[in-house]
Amino acid sequence: MTRRRPGRDRAQAQQPDLFAPATPPSPAALQENPRPATPDLQSLPAVPRELWERLAYSRFRARFHLGAKERDYLATRGLPEVMAHAADFIATRLAPAHPDKDGRQTPWRGHPVFIAQHATGTCCRGCVAKWHAMPAGQALDAQQQAYILSVIQEWIRRDAAAPMAQSAPRPDRR
Ligand SMILES: [Zn+2]
Repeated sequence: MTRRRPGRDRAQAQQPDLFAPATPPSPAALQENPRPATPDLQSLPAVPRELWERLAYSRFRARFHLGAKERDYLATRGLPEVMAHAADFIATRLAPAHPDKDGRQTPWRGHPVFIAQHATGTCCRGCVAKWHAMPAGQALDAQQQAYILSVIQEWIRRDAAAPMAQSAPRPDRR
């Protein structure tokens, strides 16, 4: 047991508590860096065309498309910001060796990246293992995360460039 001299109590009270949670960033720091760092979208790894062919054969994966809300979000925020969110989702929900709630960590709607993840088999570690041959149970390294980011970005670009899919087939109006 450490005896403290009474005279040091006040000084100690002002010392940082090593066991306290990390100090939240100051408002000034938040203003300087309000969002996760934007990934370098120009230097992402190439996605083999074969992946898009395989995905197209999956009726389940091919069913996913950006809806009106996700297209609006993409148009308003812009691709770089949406991809910064993607990088954050990948790093926090996918990259750990054993992600929290793995298999259920990616919502079905609410963000263009979520849709892209279901469409490309990058929604959970089971799908990442099956579609992208990255074994589950091991943390994803920076290169693997960049590849997944690249897949998501290309899918979003392709889907956003295509005419918006109708939720139900409609008769041809010609
Ligand atoms: Zn999945």
